[in-house]
Amino acid sequence: MIKKIIVIVVVLLVAVSCRLEETERKGPLNIVTTTGIIEDVVENIVGDSAEVSTLMGPGTDPHLYKPTPGDIELLDEADVIISNGLHLEGKMADMLEKYGLEKPVIKVSDGIDKAELIKSADFDDSFDPHIWFDTKIWMNGMENVAKELARIEGDTSGYFINNFEVYKKQVEDLDQSIRSSLASISDSSRVLITSHDAFSYFGRRYGIEVKGIQGVSTLSEVGLKDISNMVDFVIERKIKSIFIETSTSDKTAQSIVDGAMDKGYELTLDGPLYSDALGEPDSDGGNYIGMVKANVQIIVEGLK
Ligand SMILES: [Zn+2]
Repeated sequence: MIKKIIVIVVVLLVAVSCRLEETERKGPLNIVTTTGIIEDVVENIVGDSAEVSTLMGPGTDPHLYKPTPGDIELLDEADVIISNGLHLEGKMADMLEKYGLEKPVIKVSDGIDKAELIKSADFDDSFDPHIWFDTKIWMNGMENVAKELARIEGDTSGYFINNFEVYKKQVEDLDQSIRSSLASISDSSRVLITSHDAFSYFGRRYGIEVKGIQGVSTLSEVGLKDISNMVDFVIERKIKSIFIETSTSDKTAQSIVDGAMDKGYELTLDGPLYSDALGEPDSDGGNYIGMVKANVQIIVEGLK
């Protein structure tokens, strides 16, 4: 009999606590980001005061990514969702819009002035989504994220904004170090050819001509004509290296190398560069600053 009463009391207590949770959040803010690159920067903003997790781990291609049932659970439980925007998460757009009806969904791209975005060559009326490779506009986007999180959390102490300012200083130092590293590449060698068109913002910021074998999305097809045009371009411009990426297939880049070799021109396949995803947590590219540094080192060694 006593056992029975205890069971009933426990059941009632659980029921009451579940109802409480519906109305009032317990514990730290639960933030879910689409990419690991966003997750890393947001962790720097919120410190230990919030839980941050990501859907797309190391080496994941966001253009092709479809959420798993486990991801849907994470998104359901999230207090805030943070995405890149500009169709980077091409196959998640409708889903994110739906979540936006019930909880805050912040796009990093919303904090960036439209005039600073690069028009997409692939699609009319859309912009290149690889905004993290311009350190300055990426920080503009993230400043807006920090402000939005402070507003949602009711943080009037300036904790998020102060953390952001400290992190932004590190990214400004990164920007300076990139400039001095890239200065060792001669003007005629400043051409970066990669598997897909992820580096246009990087090229614009640091004065490097950029060409992707595939377009701004990995969804686009590469034809034989594109390959032979690129082979001709490489030979004409005497380019020494082209670069593969960690999150896309090497197949098309390899066919440029083979095509050049058929014409008696030796071209090196370098990389991989971190383009749309971080590396493993313990690798050089395990965080945003580390991935950009690692890329710059590989680019300088390949093009110098
Ligand atoms: Zn991409």
